[in-house]
Amino acid sequence: MKIFKFGGASVKDAPALENMLQILQKHADSTQMVIVVSAMGKTTNALEKLLNQYWEQEDYLTTLENIQTYHADIVKKLFIDDKDSIFSLLDNLFVELKQHLNRITPENVSYDEAYDQIISFGEIISTNLISKYLQQSEFDCAWVDARKVVYTDAQWRDAKIDWEITQQQMDEEVRSLAAQKPVITQGFIGGTTGKKTTTLGREGSDFTAAIFAYGLEAASVTIWKDVEGILNGDPKIVANAQKYAYLSYWEAAEMTQYGAKVIHPKTIIPLMQKQIPLYVRSFIHPLRTGTCISKTQVEKMIPAIIFKENQTLIKLEVKGAYFMTTPRFIEILQGLENQHIEAHFVHKSAIGCEICISGRPRRTQKFVDTFQSQYDISFTPEVQLLTIKNYDQASIQSATKDWNILLEERNGHIYQAVVKQS
Ligand code: ASP
Ligand code: MG
Repeated sequence: MKIFKFGGASVKDAPALENMLQILQKHADSTQMVIVVSAMGKTTNALEKLLNQYWEQEDYLTTLENIQTYHADIVKKLFIDDKDSIFSLLDNLFVELKQHLNRITPENVSYDEAYDQIISFGEIISTNLISKYLQQSEFDCAWVDARKVVYTDAQWRDAKIDWEITQQQMDEEVRSLAAQKPVITQGFIGGTTGKKTTTLGREGSDFTAAIFAYGLEAASVTIWKDVEGILNGDPKIVANAQKYAYLSYWEAAEMTQYGAKVIHPKTIIPLMQKQIPLYVRSFIHPLRTGTCISKTQVEKMIPAIIFKENQTLIKLEVKGAYFMTTPRFIEILQGLENQHIEAHFVHKSAIGCEICISGRPRRTQKFVDTFQSQYDISFTPEVQLLTIKNYDQASIQSATKDWNILLEERNGHIYQAVVKQS
């Protein structure tokens, strides 16, 4: 059994899908296969925009139309036979999406719950179209609804897996099907026992691939990306970024934890538990080997330079003549946790603390509301958290040269700084 995962960029238009088909045909052999697919191109962002406009009672119809036209365009270019039935499939999906939207009112559902019901359509639409395309291209496959396999709790937008029911569903629903033909399913989405759709966090399709690999005890997972593998920095930011040929699970997990965007942070652990190797390969150069992540320890790793974007530095100072005691500090961390805000970098002083969090305005506002009577709270928005794993002086110098450093810390082999564009 092998698991292939195709992200948004690898299914973004008709040529991309033709390329995906070629990759699948080339790797189709006697091994069973599960294909996990994301929403096409930037559809998830577009759906977020759609929901936000709807939520704010702005005009959303143009956005909705654009999303439909984008998919219809792909259908037009991709399908040779039976175009009409594919168009009516697409129409039906958009009718369903509209119905879902119209059922939402801020009085009867939270934003986060509404988010999962709407944003999940990206994957539903993409897998519907792609499975039809593969079948038409004589690559027979079975469409599986991930919401009936990947069971989660109802923590909207960041749902936690119920491994027990998920395992049962893998055994009962997927295993025998996959023995007959390749299975295609959606990344990123799951379902509750109450039949509500959930999502696993942005870019969560990698995690889905790992969940299927874990549940089906796959021999390997391959994530097909637009980069050559895992690099030691984002090539758009880091000059001369180099590819790691091998990484251990632990090195890779640590990198994603600091914000390396190549794979979703939750992907590694289930694979590590069952020692399933993970390959990160380029769909643009499918013959190249990419990066192999496995239990093999790497001797000397070159410095990994990771920028975590879209951060806010929040500063709390105790009002009045008080100090930042441990109980106060614990209360603040608990306050963040209550809003599901993760603290990525924390610095405590005698009179206050500074915390770097991901920019989530709604949740942050709720946190501020709770604490503003006791603390003077200020923000520095649009900062980034820089982490250099296995740092040396040269890597610090080159990574920080275009930035203002607001806070910095060195700890063992990790260098971290909160930085702002200078
Ligand atoms: N489509 C989702 C996103 O863009 C999930 C994924 O691509 O992994 O976040
Ligand atoms: Mg995506």
